[in-house]
Amino acid sequence: MIISDSKLILEIKNLHARIEDKPILKGVNLQVKEGEIHALMGRNGSGKSTLAKILAGHPSYKITEGQITFQDKNLLTLEPEERARMGIFLGFQYPVEIPGVSNLEFLRVATNTRRSARQQEELDTFEFEDFVHSKLEVVQMDPVFLERSINEGFSGGEKKRNEILQMALLEPIISILDETDSGLDIDALRIVASGVNQLSSPQTATLLITHYQRLLNEITPDFVHVMADGEIQRTGGSELALELEKSGYEWIDRAVKVGESE
Ligand code: ADP
Ligand code: MG
Repeated sequence: MIISDSKLILEIKNLHARIEDKPILKGVNLQVKEGEIHALMGRNGSGKSTLAKILAGHPSYKITEGQITFQDKNLLTLEPEERARMGIFLGFQYPVEIPGVSNLEFLRVATNTRRSARQQEELDTFEFEDFVHSKLEVVQMDPVFLERSINEGFSGGEKKRNEILQMALLEPIISILDETDSGLDIDALRIVASGVNQLSSPQTATLLITHYQRLLNEITPDFVHVMADGEIQRTGGSELALELEKSGYEWIDRAVKVGESE
């Protein structure tokens, strides 16, 4: 949903990053405004997950150049916990299993941390039960999953639903979903996509990282960006994703090569 005078939420300027001594991001520029849904596409290894992890504050990456501004604050000076409290949500490509930690209790603590950052009252066990049950419908999740350890023995689809449930509870300003569609059958994909659609609002934004058009049949992005070799090489509307589906990434690779030889 593009609203002409809407506020900038996230601005990435000329971002360069490396891991160990290997340059991975080589000048990423991206602006995300409230109400917008952005899709970030590109081949394996192009740097999509790296960008997502850097936004969330993953410590392994070294930023060598550039800036990231989130709601007018310099994101790069903030700890990962602060970023999460401020409303940055990262849904993982491979959600981790944490045996021995109750999913319900984890969700309650996380929700209360975010609520207190927004000067909202914390929810006690009983209040949280009601709140979480009201959100289960968004992802059509069975309440039994609340009683289990975090993601332990969950199927791929159940893990992804649990990620969207977290998102529903935390009410992030920007949700970055890294290949939420990978490993999902079509029913689970529809449920996850419908969760994302229900949660998107004029005040928040979504960055969907995906390989495939099939997620974008369910969630229509306002912008599609194609990453190659650590840079966003192309930006377009939702039609760009269709073009990629038809022609693959080769024409983008060729364009990158031409640029390099200039
Ligand atoms: P994508 O998500 O687009 O598939 P990634 O961001 O995961 O790409 O990876 C980009 C590049 O960074 C790849 O070449 C990958 O091998 C490299 N890379 C990512 N993480 C590490 C790491 N921890 N150590 C070394 N190289 C890494
Ligand atoms: Mg990835």
